[in-house]
Amino acid sequence: MEIKSVEWKKIEIPLKKPFKIALGTINSYEGVILKICTNEFCGYGEASPSRRITGETVGSVISSFELFKKILIGKDALEAGAIMNSLNRALVGNSSAKAAVDFALYDLLGKKASLPLVNILGKEKKKIETSLTVTIGSVEDSVKNALKLVEQGAKVLKVKIGLNPQEDIERIKKIRENVDVRIRVDANQGYSLKRAIRVLREIERYEIEFAEQPIPAHQIDELEILRREVEIPIMADESVHTKEDVVRLIGKVDAINIKLMKSGGIREALRMAGIAKAAGMKIMVGCMIETKLGIAAGTHFALSIGADYTDLDGYWDLREQPFDGMEFKDGYNVLSEKPGLGIEGDIF
Ligand SMILES: [Mg+2]
Repeated sequence: MEIKSVEWKKIEIPLKKPFKIALGTINSYEGVILKICTNEFCGYGEASPSRRITGETVGSVISSFELFKKILIGKDALEAGAIMNSLNRALVGNSSAKAAVDFALYDLLGKKASLPLVNILGKEKKKIETSLTVTIGSVEDSVKNALKLVEQGAKVLKVKIGLNPQEDIERIKKIRENVDVRIRVDANQGYSLKRAIRVLREIERYEIEFAEQPIPAHQIDELEILRREVEIPIMADESVHTKEDVVRLIGKVDAINIKLMKSGGIREALRMAGIAKAAGMKIMVGCMIETKLGIAAGTHFALSIGADYTDLDGYWDLREQPFDGMEFKDGYNVLSEKPGLGIEGDIF
């Protein structure tokens, strides 16, 4: 399984509508698709860089790939653990670029074994509902958006909050009055501790599943205070990238959001999941804005660890889908039976 070639291609896909959250607004998705080939098969990966979360840009991902290519060529793709260690020694951080390599190596492994990745990792759950996201807008727009997503099959809504406390309380109240599905909220670090306590106490009555990252990522001790002060379970997202972060958060939050773009791929994410489970924390597998390629990797991983929740709707707002092989059906992402990630469509 000697690696013979490593190529990449930048993609830019406009969004159906602007994606507004407490961290900012974006209008299009820019990522990089990676293709690693042996003589027999090609494996694919995706990097969705984020300046404010992983500290990466499309340019930095491409620089990382130039460095990684020198390490990858000539290596045995079946020695993925050793390869990832080499990448980590060569370059710290740059987690979405590393995730792309990790996905491509797992895709190759699946193709070699003629098995879907989830079967190689070992399936723990057959399916897990994914939430669909209601972004920040006027209360009226949020309700309209929520109703539309439920009509399209959402069994769980993730409502973005974190900019305006009064409007957020009103938003959750009105959505709860209009839809009959599970609701979770995500403030993307938007509140101070004081505001977070106030808003979460106000919306407790609307049966909120959990609240994701209500306060800034570095405020770990404040997360513990928040958890004590409110009834809604608290989930860390931007506070948790690596297994060391999971250890730091034990006892301070109820749950963590593992995103493969933050962890640097499935290999590190498996270690994070092990620590979280041992500590009695619940696990959600989340995503950035990604094509079905990255989301398929997240779905294989989530089913294999038996994640408590998934939030894998990153492809939902893309105006075009460059890849096939995974479909949203009745609230779930359904994987194809094809080997590896099961994704089809060669953009190279
Ligand atoms: Mg989040």
